[in-house]
Amino acid sequence: MEAPQDRLALANDAPVREDGRYVVYWMLAQRRTRWNFGLEHAIARAQELERPLVVVEALSCSYRWASDRHHAFIIDGMRDQRDALAAAGVTYLPYVEPAEDAGKGLHAALAAEACCYVTDHWPCFHMPMWVERVAAEIDVRMETVDSCGVIPLRSAPKGFARAHDFRRHVHRVAFDALSRMPVAEPLRGAGLPSLDGLPAEVTERWPATDLDRLDLASLPIDHTVAPVEGVRGGQAAALARLGGFMEERIGRYLDRNQPEVEASSGLSPWLHYGHVSAHEVFHRVADHESWDPSLIEGQKATGKREGWWGMSAASEGFMDELVTWREVCLNTCENRPRDYGRYESLPDFAKKTLAEHADDPRPHVYTLEQFENAETHDPLWNAAQNQLRREGIIHNYLRMLWGKKILHWTESPQEAHRIMVELNNKYGLDGRDPNSWGGIMWVLGRYDRAWGPEREIFGKVRYMTSDNTARKVRVKNYVARYNAAPETPSMF
Ligand SMILES: Cc1cc2nc3c(=O)[nH]c(=O)nc-3n(C[C@H](O)[C@H](O)[C@H](O)COP(=O)(O)OP(=O)(O)OC[C@H]3O[C@@H](n4cnc5c(N)ncnc54)[C@H](O)[C@@H]3O)c2cc1C
Repeated sequence: MEAPQDRLALANDAPVREDGRYVVYWMLAQRRTRWNFGLEHAIARAQELERPLVVVEALSCSYRWASDRHHAFIIDGMRDQRDALAAAGVTYLPYVEPAEDAGKGLHAALAAEACCYVTDHWPCFHMPMWVERVAAEIDVRMETVDSCGVIPLRSAPKGFARAHDFRRHVHRVAFDALSRMPVAEPLRGAGLPSLDGLPAEVTERWPATDLDRLDLASLPIDHTVAPVEGVRGGQAAALARLGGFMEERIGRYLDRNQPEVEASSGLSPWLHYGHVSAHEVFHRVADHESWDPSLIEGQKATGKREGWWGMSAASEGFMDELVTWREVCLNTCENRPRDYGRYESLPDFAKKTLAEHADDPRPHVYTLEQFENAETHDPLWNAAQNQLRREGIIHNYLRMLWGKKILHWTESPQEAHRIMVELNNKYGLDGRDPNSWGGIMWVLGRYDRAWGPEREIFGKVRYMTSDNTARKVRVKNYVARYNAAPETPSMF
């Protein structure tokens, strides 16, 4: 089926080449073959034009923070795509760039024999720039499809200052949005003709990468950030994790702030790389709750956090993170494309109060290197940083503390912002996501209100301390585990 109109956009005004040989889906942000409006739309175009489909999935080596960790995770996913598309008889071109700029020209060459191009809309990091560039370079029509979240990005043509206001918007549009979900398995029964070879220029200059033999060491990326041991990327691993969450953990989700209880989904890296869709996650929770959209039809948009969906308290808590918090961050990127990640985009109250306290003496001041190497005086902070370095993730509650203490222990809030961005995106498997900037900017006051009493350094920005955290949640084992030698197995 064609993508819903409010998820579809034209990226250029080039024509469809009616006598082209195939339709291309450039799998850019939604790196999966399930629950994917973009892939579904490309299949619909191929069916309409009675042409084969080519799926191209490329991996650049020159984006900021490219490392063995991020590459290994994405390449796991590419193997899953290769197998799923081969089983469906669809041509797949996986291309891992071997040297900087080696991929330049690939899309123009592929488009030269194509009817049209379809790709993903993703409002963050380099993706909008890449899409704009390729759309201008190719001589056939390119359409973009928003498969980012449960709520179409265009349903809210403004940025939201508070999660409460965005939640009310979610309540307003959820029924419509959930009544049109992507197809679970769009390749099944697609009935597309097969392709008789890619253009010679493409196969000669950009041959499909042999994903099983690729040596990461040969690529010009950061080899100091190693893949996370025992963690695989890709849709198969994502589904296994989602299954484990639904069977064992969702019922105790309200305990998710406890670092020593495994209660959250752990899905953020797979959601970030598009290896699993928010729609599919939503669908699994709805199934678990025997819930369907008719239960919210005509319901008043209250913006209330609890009791609106009509699910159990644990599932409602999870929905609030998956839909409200995840998608308010997407919404900010969509509506502030130029500055969503910049310090200057903070709310006025936060910039004002942090400026008023810029000269307050700091109890400790650490450099980027000291933070990076977990060399602060605080064992809880060091444990969180060690978890990030080792596992590519920090437990959610401690991630908040991690950020707040960077603000406390740097010489300026602008420097704290720089250090958070650097460490989060370098080591986090879910880094460089709208949530990355959402979380970092939340530390500095975004989506939040002014808090009293006014404090040193933080001013009216919400304050957190390790001592308070240790009083509220159990952290003893967490601190011991992540400050011990790396051989200690992960808690999660
Ligand atoms: C300083 C800081 C940096 C952060 N950096 C990132 C990041 O790089 N990438 C990232 O995905 N999240 C980030 N977050 C948000 C949050 O910490 C993670 O999304 C969450 O811990 C992921 O764990 P989970 O998948 O088990 O979440 P679950 O609790 O299982 O929630 C399910 C999904 O909902 C979304 N979600 C959950 N909590 C939040 C939240 N507070 N804000 C926005 N979305 C949320 C995520 O997509 C998550 O995978 C950051 C938060 C802070 C305070």
